[in-house]
Amino acid sequence: MHIPPTHPRRESLIIREKLVEGFKRGIVVAEGLIAHGRGECFDYLIGESTQEFAIRAIEAAVASLLLAKYPVISVNGNTAALVPGEIVELAHLLNAKIEVNLFYRTREREETIANWLKKHGATEILGVGEDASATIPELFSERRRVSPRGILIADVVMVPLEDGDRTEALRKMNKTVIAIDLNPLSRTARSANITIVDNVVRAIPQMINKARELKNKSRSELEEILKNYDNNRTLQEALRFINKRLMELSSSQITLSIK
Ligand code: ATP
Repeated sequence: MHIPPTHPRRESLIIREKLVEGFKRGIVVAEGLIAHGRGECFDYLIGESTQEFAIRAIEAAVASLLLAKYPVISVNGNTAALVPGEIVELAHLLNAKIEVNLFYRTREREETIANWLKKHGATEILGVGEDASATIPELFSERRRVSPRGILIADVVMVPLEDGDRTEALRKMNKTVIAIDLNPLSRTARSANITIVDNVVRAIPQMINKARELKNKSRSELEEILKNYDNNRTLQEALRFINKRLMELSSSQITLSIK
């Protein structure tokens, strides 16, 4: 579909096109399209740009991943469709493993996603087929199946676009969980250690820049960043930002002048 460069919702339409394309390729499931709709709504509320609370969370997330002994980035269909090359680049910079983890898991879909990521430069993708032979306790969906070389042994797991059950299960296993979720009220956002309230399409490229910047810092400098980070404050700030923005909008001219 041709989207004119001047279209006011161009960026948002391009994202939708990527997801529809991913759907046709068998990467994204229909439920993923609906989940994206929920995210879009919150993106509207935060002004469709990366806000200060997300920038601080991104810094803490990158510090945590750089400090990790065994960092893993968990990838689902929507993430693979939206930012495949960026995930590969980030994993490379952080020395992290990439693992496919799907709520609606089929062998074919796992392989389609793994091949898609390989097409974007990945050399190793965990969690495909027999590799997902371990299970996470307290989870009943197919997401409980993980790789014994990946999420099972990871100390820090990044889960862009996760569901609350799995985030809680990973926390109970004493893992540090980093979530990217546009909804500051979701169970995922509220149960992760670090929540980046931003769109994955903006957050992952910013994490790449931050990883380049922090890569040369000492461990004590990275630890200092983490020590000063408070996820509860981040979520409060996200809600206050939305609240303030809506208050301002509600006392200004809302209707558009049509000429
Ligand atoms: P939870 O189980 O955590 O309460 P949920 O049931 O809303 O959350 P899902 O429907 O599994 O979770 O996933 C959708 C979540 O992903 C939503 O919270 C939505 O805000 C978020 N989301 C969707 N698209 C994006 C995106 N592009 N970037 C960041 N977050 C997104």
